[in-house]
Amino acid sequence: MVVNSLAERYRADFPILDQKVNGFPLVYLDNAASTQHPNCVIDEIARYYREDHANVHRGIHALSSRSTKLYEDARARAARFLGAASADSIIFTRGTTEGINLVATSWGTAHLGPGDVILITEMEHHANLIPWQIAARRTGASLQYLAVHGDEGTIDWSDLERLLSQNRVRLLAFTHISNSLGCINPVRAICATARRHGVTTLVDAAQSAGHAPINVQELDCDFLVFSGHKCCGPTGIGILYGNPAVLDDMQPYQFGGEMISRVTYESADWKPGPHRFEAGTPHIAGAIGLNVAMDYLETIGRPAIQANDHHLGEVAYERLSRLPGIRILGPRRERAGLISFQLGATHAHDLVAYADQFGIALRGGHHCNQPLMRKLGLQATARASFYFYNTESEIDRLVEVLEAAIKYFGA
Ligand SMILES: *Cc1c(COP(=O)(O)O)cnc(C)c1O
Repeated sequence: MVVNSLAERYRADFPILDQKVNGFPLVYLDNAASTQHPNCVIDEIARYYREDHANVHRGIHALSSRSTKLYEDARARAARFLGAASADSIIFTRGTTEGINLVATSWGTAHLGPGDVILITEMEHHANLIPWQIAARRTGASLQYLAVHGDEGTIDWSDLERLLSQNRVRLLAFTHISNSLGCINPVRAICATARRHGVTTLVDAAQSAGHAPINVQELDCDFLVFSGHKCCGPTGIGILYGNPAVLDDMQPYQFGGEMISRVTYESADWKPGPHRFEAGTPHIAGAIGLNVAMDYLETIGRPAIQANDHHLGEVAYERLSRLPGIRILGPRRERAGLISFQLGATHAHDLVAYADQFGIALRGGHHCNQPLMRKLGLQATARASFYFYNTESEIDRLVEVLEAAIKYFGA
């Protein structure tokens, strides 16, 4: 596959990237926190507000029907994007965080009790950790962790078989791609092992849905979540996929308008399907923008994006690893398009502020992985994360600025 041609073809679709920051051309390397939007997404959101906006589902008038159709088209697109058999498996959420909270509250309350185990990994984002701490506290279940080994962040997946045989594990929740280590977990094999033990699975696809092909039927997971804003879509919108067999007996998460079929002063009945999980007026424009974003990514092709990410990840590892005093997290090979590092004794925040002076956008901090950072003996790292519009010459620019930082801080 021809790699690194994607930026040439698609970068011009992203007007925000064409600007100077502090007098230097912007080098946007904070894609793991949020990606940018192509013109087609921005234009469609504006068009929707100019021409079609009304509330969905309740109305009979023309604008409401158009708005409802666009919203439901987005649901159908999300089903195709994830390889789900039916749009009824797709629930709109605010993002990954809300999707996991929905499952932890709704599924967790009904299926967890004392003696049960929730199993997650030590590399989970706080969004896939704290909801399980709370669910465990509420239901009397216990929370256990698959250990992460060394700076490479390897998980010994053979531990999984042992933990599943020895404990009453009800749920296994894990990330597809780690947002701080950049490692890629073998989702299909993990879900197959869980399936053999009758364990329900949740995949955090926040870092992967826009970066790699995903087919929930092939992966055979029960839940999968992602956020629109990490794959060229708007903020405030995300997707929760639920396997129909699991979703069908789940109770709603929030209550109110849009999710009921019949209400009396004493009680209420819920709508069938995904609608019973979407109380209140949803983020209609967000869903419509996400539809266009998914369409755009499908046009580029996620296999091509994945190959491009992989290439940029390897190039970055190769070039950054030559810097004196650098400590890089995550695996050497088979890595995603992001790289977390510490440079000598320089605090990540100082490094990120320094890079910003030269127009480079990095992220510095614990990346919502505080326990993992603590385990690795770190307070924070700097992170560069790529998308298909980034180039190798931007990595060269990053290396130049890091070399200058080493001199400046005497790191
Ligand atoms: C960003 C991220 C989340 C949280 O996503 P939100 O959009 O903030 O809800 C969860 N998990 C991973 C791996 C992430 O990268």
